[in-house]
Amino acid sequence: MNILVTAGPTREPIDPVRFLSNRSTGKMGYALAQAACERGHQVTLITGPTCLQPPAGTHTVPVETALDMLDATLAHIDGIDCAILCAAVADHRPKSPSQTKLKRSQNFPSTIDLIENPDILATLGRLPERKFFLAGFAAETDNVEEYAVDKLRKKNCDMIVANHASGLNTGFEADTNEVTLYFRDGRSVGIPLAPKLDIARAILATIEGA
Ligand code: C5P
Repeated sequence: MNILVTAGPTREPIDPVRFLSNRSTGKMGYALAQAACERGHQVTLITGPTCLQPPAGTHTVPVETALDMLDATLAHIDGIDCAILCAAVADHRPKSPSQTKLKRSQNFPSTIDLIENPDILATLGRLPERKFFLAGFAAETDNVEEYAVDKLRKKNCDMIVANHASGLNTGFEADTNEVTLYFRDGRSVGIPLAPKLDIARAILATIEGA
């Protein structure tokens, strides 16, 4: 299969040296890219800034902002069989980033106006006559199943991977994860606590069988 994976955070500039971002390290997305390569798939990894080495054999496209990630994703969507959107895309960006460094004692604003970023997963879900399998992630701290199933419907994807963002051994920054996969037909599959690479292998095996 041709598989596209998004990974990592996005950075939304406030000025040339500051940005809004989140705690994503990219570990889960990179593990998915590695697992997909190991299983013989062609992988395009569209990644926000991380400290990780892209897995050997992946076609890696580095991006910074949510808008860059959307452009890169749409530019690589033709001919893919599966898209797994694992990136923690910033939901908002500063409306008017400063072109020069803001100075604490001179012009640093007390408030920053934000505007909403596009939802890449929902954008792919809305593509007419989509032929590829579309998977998204849901990092939730509470009501995990309810929010995950809601996301599956609203973003029109084929599978949502839900994980608890509040657990010490799951979600952001952890080396392990514990997830539940939710499908359109109401089925769900739990994958117990394991290293992210093992979770990724199990997710890929499930997608291959879907
Ligand atoms: O709504 P929420 O951000 O929790 O949804 C998470 C899922 O949506 C993830 O798969 C993430 O990659 C994707 N997403 C996206 N673009 C956004 C926000 C989230 O693709 N702007």
